[in-house]
Amino acid sequence: MNEIEQAIRFLEKNRDAIQDKDNQLIPQTIKDKVSMPYDLAIQALQEKAEREKGCEHCNSHVPINNFTKDYSIEVDDTEISLWEDLKCLAYMKINDCPMCGRKLVEE
Ligand SMILES: [Zn+2]
Repeated sequence: MNEIEQAIRFLEKNRDAIQDKDNQLIPQTIKDKVSMPYDLAIQALQEKAEREKGCEHCNSHVPINNFTKDYSIEVDDTEISLWEDLKCLAYMKINDCPMCGRKLVEE
């Protein structure tokens, strides 16, 4: 279990403790109010974990072929390149995958 998964589990445990059905002393509206930031943090961390997995383009160099002509774009480590068939037309350094948003450069 990585750091993000541990943080998600920690937040879920605390949120579940706040939402404890056996505790009738705290009104449900208060429980919901107090657990709302936990829900947001869990959602944000789940999105971060999903983004860090990357996609087929930044993990496996599968070309992006969303063009009507024979152009394609490749994401290769920290570089993006534009191809016309087998001819590279342009390339540049990038920090994030243009398709999934995964960070390609460590900060
Ligand atoms: Zn990607």
